[in-house]
Amino acid sequence: MKLEGGCYCGNVRYEAEGEPVMKAQCHCRECQYISGGSPNLVLGMPLAGFRFTKGTPKGFTRSDLENPVTREFCPDCGTQLLSRMPTLPIALIKVGTLDDPAVFEGAQMAIFTIDSQPFHHVPDGIPTFERLPG
Ligand SMILES: [Zn+2]
Ligand SMILES: [Zn+2]
Repeated sequence: MKLEGGCYCGNVRYEAEGEPVMKAQCHCRECQYISGGSPNLVLGMPLAGFRFTKGTPKGFTRSDLENPVTREFCPDCGTQLLSRMPTLPIALIKVGTLDDPAVFEGAQMAIFTIDSQPFHHVPDGIPTFERLPG
C-alpha cells in the first residue's frame, strides 16, 4: 500500500510505501506530551519506503536516554509526523497525520503501559506490554 500524509499547515508532506509492520498505541510519558495526554497512535511502516515529498522536518532526540527515538516534526506548525527508532528500520508514523487516518483501523497492541494514566483506554482483546513486545 502507498500512504500519503503531512503536517497541519501542509509545509511538510510524506509518502510511505510498503506493508504496515506495526499498529500500536503508545502510552509512554513522552508520547503524552505530544498527543495531548492520551496514548499516541502509531502506524509502523518500512523505513525504506518512507520519504518526504515536501519540506524538511526538524528532529529531536533526547540525550539522556539509552536508545532514544528521533521525533520529527514540522518546524512551522509543530505537528509531530513520525518517530525513527534507533535499532529497527521502521518509520513510526503518527496516525493523525495520514491523509486518511481510517487506514489505521485500530491498534493491535498497547505499548509502554507502565506509564499509562488512569483515564487511558485500551481496546478489548489486544495485547498490552509494559514496555516493548519481546
Ligand atoms: Zn506544518
Ligand atoms: Zn510513546
